Amino acid sequence: MTNPSILILPGDGIGPEVMAEVRKVIDWYGVKRDMVFNVTEDLVGGVAYDAHGTPLHDDTMEKAQQVDAVLLGAVGGPKYDDLDFSVKPERGLLRLRKEMDLFSNLRPAQCFDALADFSSLKRDVVAGLDIMIVRELTSGIYFGEPRGIFEEGNERVGINTQRYTESEIDRVARSAFELARRRGNKVCSMEKANVMESGILWREVVQKVHDEDYQDVELSHMYADAGAMQLCRWPKQFDVIVTDNLFGDLLSDAAAMLTGSLGMLPSASLGAPMANGRPKALYEPVHGSAPDIAGTGKANPIACVLSFAMALRYSFDHGDEATRLEDAVEKVLADGLRTADLLGEDGVNPVSTSQMGDAIVAALDASL
Ligand code: NAD
Repeated sequence: MTNPSILILPGDGIGPEVMAEVRKVIDWYGVKRDMVFNVTEDLVGGVAYDAHGTPLHDDTMEKAQQVDAVLLGAVGGPKYDDLDFSVKPERGLLRLRKEMDLFSNLRPAQCFDALADFSSLKRDVVAGLDIMIVRELTSGIYFGEPRGIFEEGNERVGINTQRYTESEIDRVARSAFELARRRGNKVCSMEKANVMESGILWREVVQKVHDEDYQDVELSHMYADAGAMQLCRWPKQFDVIVTDNLFGDLLSDAAAMLTGSLGMLPSASLGAPMANGRPKALYEPVHGSAPDIAGTGKANPIACVLSFAMALRYSFDHGDEATRLEDAVEKVLADGLRTADLLGEDGVNPVSTSQMGDAIVAALDASL
C-alpha cells in the first residue's frame, strides 16, 4: 500500500513559520508511530505570484487534486495589496476551494481547559466546550444569481440571491450527519425557515436525509438567529451545527471566538469522496498571514498543528492519533506554555513559535 500523500502550501507571512512546526509533528508520526506520509511542498499566494506571476500555478492545482490532503498555512500581505484582484494572493486559496469543490467547511470550537479564563464568556459556560460548525461553502448567497448593483428608477439597488438546490443541501447534510456519528451523534440544523423559502427547503431536505439514512443521529432544527443566542448562552448544548454559507460565516466566527485566540483555531474544507473513499480535503488555520508579527518568532503554531490533527481524523482515519495530538496540545497549555497571543497585553515569558512546536513534540513523546 502506498503512503498517504500530503501537499503542503505554507504560503505567506507566518504561514511558513507555523508550517515548520507542523513538519516536526508529521516527522514525529513517521519516526515514532510508523505513519509515513508522502509530503510535497509548493507555493501559494504572494510567494507563488512572485515566482510565477499567479497566486496558484496550474501544476500546483493539479497536485492538489491528486493528493489525499492539502495543508495550507496562510496567504496575503501588504506587499500584495495593490495587485490586480485577479492575481491577489487570496485568489489562490479561492481557486483551490472552488476547483476541489470543497462544499463542507468544518470549523470546530473547542475550549482547552487551560484557556477557559481567556474566553470573554464565563469559565463554566466554555470549559470543556467541543462543538463543530459545518458551513456550506460553495453555494448560497455569496454565489447566487442575479447579483450586482443596478439602476432602478432614480436610485441604485444592490442585489444578492440566496439559492440552494436540493442536492447542495443533501450533500452538506450528509457530511454533518457522518461527522456527528464520529462525535456526539447530534446535529442541529440552522436556517430561517420562518422567513426564507430557501430555509424551508433546507429544513425539508435535512429532515429527509435524516429520516432516510441517519435515524440513529439526533436531529433538531433551530432558526439561525435563535441559534446565535443559544451559542452565547449555553454553547455546550450543541454537538454538530449544520448551516448555510452566510449563517455559517457568522456563526462559526462567533463560536470560534468563544474559545480565545485566532492562533488556536483550525479548520477543514471537505469535498466529495475520491476513488479511494477519502474526501477531497484542505486543512488550514483560520488566521491569516499576520504580517504584523511575521519573522519575529511570535506566531502561535497551534491552529496549524490542530489543522493537521483534523487531517489525521477526517482524511486518514486516525481519530486516535488526532486525539493524541490534541491531548499533547492540551498538556503543553496545562503546563503553562503560552505564545504571546495567549498572554494578553502585559504577558510575561512568552515562548517562541519553535519552542511551542518543540514542546508539542515532547508531549507527543511523553504520550507513548
Ligand atoms: P490575521 O489573521 O493575519 O491577523 C489578525 C491578528 O491576529 C494580527 O494581530 C495577528 O498578529 C494575529 N494573529 C493571527 N494569527 C496568529 C497566530 N497564529 N499567532 C499569533 N497571532 C496571530 O488577519 P489580518 O491582519 O486581517 O490579515 C493579514 C493578511 O492575511 C491579509 O493579507 C489578509 O488578506 C490575509 N488573510 C489570509 C487568510 C488565509 O490565508 N486564510 C485569512 C485571513 C486573512
